[in-house]
Amino acid sequence: MHTYRADKALLPHGWAEDVLIEVDGEGNVASVAPGSKDDAAERIRGIVLPGMVDLHSHAFQRGLAGLTQRLATQAATFWGWRERMYDFAARLTPDDLRAIAAQLQVELLKGGYTTVVEFHYLHHQPDGSPYPERTAMALALHEAALETGIALTLLPAVYMQAGVDGGALEGAQRRFALDPEGWMRLIEDLEASFADDGDRCLGLALHSVRAVPPPAITEAVAAARGRGGFMPIHIHLAEQPKEVRDCLERFGRRPLDVLCDAAEPGHDWCLVHGTHLSEEELARVTAAQAVIGLCPTTEADLGDGVFPLADHLALGGQFGIGSDSNVGTSAAEELRLLEYGQRLAHLRRTVAATSEEPHAGRLLWCRALAGGAKAAGRPVGRLAPGFRADLIVLDPDHPSLVGRAGNLVLDALLFAPGPSAISDVMVGGLWCVRGGHHAAEASIARAYRQTMERLLA
Ligand SMILES: [Zn+2]
Repeated sequence: MHTYRADKALLPHGWAEDVLIEVDGEGNVASVAPGSKDDAAERIRGIVLPGMVDLHSHAFQRGLAGLTQRLATQAATFWGWRERMYDFAARLTPDDLRAIAAQLQVELLKGGYTTVVEFHYLHHQPDGSPYPERTAMALALHEAALETGIALTLLPAVYMQAGVDGGALEGAQRRFALDPEGWMRLIEDLEASFADDGDRCLGLALHSVRAVPPPAITEAVAAARGRGGFMPIHIHLAEQPKEVRDCLERFGRRPLDVLCDAAEPGHDWCLVHGTHLSEEELARVTAAQAVIGLCPTTEADLGDGVFPLADHLALGGQFGIGSDSNVGTSAAEELRLLEYGQRLAHLRRTVAATSEEPHAGRLLWCRALAGGAKAAGRPVGRLAPGFRADLIVLDPDHPSLVGRAGNLVLDALLFAPGPSAISDVMVGGLWCVRGGHHAAEASIARAYRQTMERLLA
């Protein structure tokens, strides 16, 4: 048991001072008590928040950030960007993936994320044949997480066809091939690898209704739900108008209809993007208690469109945030862009705020935490007994935080300028970032640099 005393902390019922936080040997919060005078506890000088969940990442795409911004016919749409991404994905080895993922995870930790959910579809060798060790690529992500300390939920993705019309996988897509049976085998192998590591969490990703035919969606969801216990199920849905049109042409149904026809939606679902869902569809998602996974920097980078957040919140919908293609690695930046997109679209301010929670920063941070924790399938997102000791510490001397208290701190974290105010990050009771630095950041950056120089030569 280790005991900390935080100057200020955001607890489930609100802000508190001199908060005693007991962390057990497993990295869980054992007790939380405000108003403590315990001088023997290790002091946390600053403002403590529960760490954010990144509910959607493709780690390897961190290596592609900034390489697709040159005007060219191909790069001007999502579909052209996807070809560039395939070219990059075709070259990566497990060691490359590990190096890129570790660099990304250090950046995510410094950006306020303590959990990352990897939507993992880079399964096989470049020619599509399995690695001798089937789990090689998945374990590269796991090994990176062991090195950086970030909490990982790993979602191997089912991926079976090139498009909604059922075309065969070609080129780089052959690396992605995985059917429901292959997913089961991969999960069993990973569970064996993680047997001594109670902190790892597994789930199911279905790449999209483009890449997974309805009978396979039915089979994979049944397999995931049949395993007992809660297993998160994620899918890319309605990201691009073309995806909706293709679906209508092929099935006469919209993507959400196709999904719901194939499997009963539920609170274990996370629908990633959902950019082009109608209000009626959002009501169905909300009724099912599913989470919408929003990735504002990626969605802006790819020209996806603006998610109707105001409608979703008015319906009582749940959401979390993801770094997706990893063109952004800051939780505050992701939430800021989410709110700013709404302001630009609706011609008004503080769109996410409500009369019950009038601070946009507080509302966005807390709602994204709740949705993200659920989508990650982990006991995180609250500084409370039984939850993981995952927290970030804000520097009270940061220029953007001077004179701010309570909810104004979160408003400033999201909407004030300057370098990050995050000084320290703890995951599972262990400090990963101290004074703005990760202990292994130099060696991780060196490995990343060597990897990228070779890949881009
Ligand atoms: Zn994605």
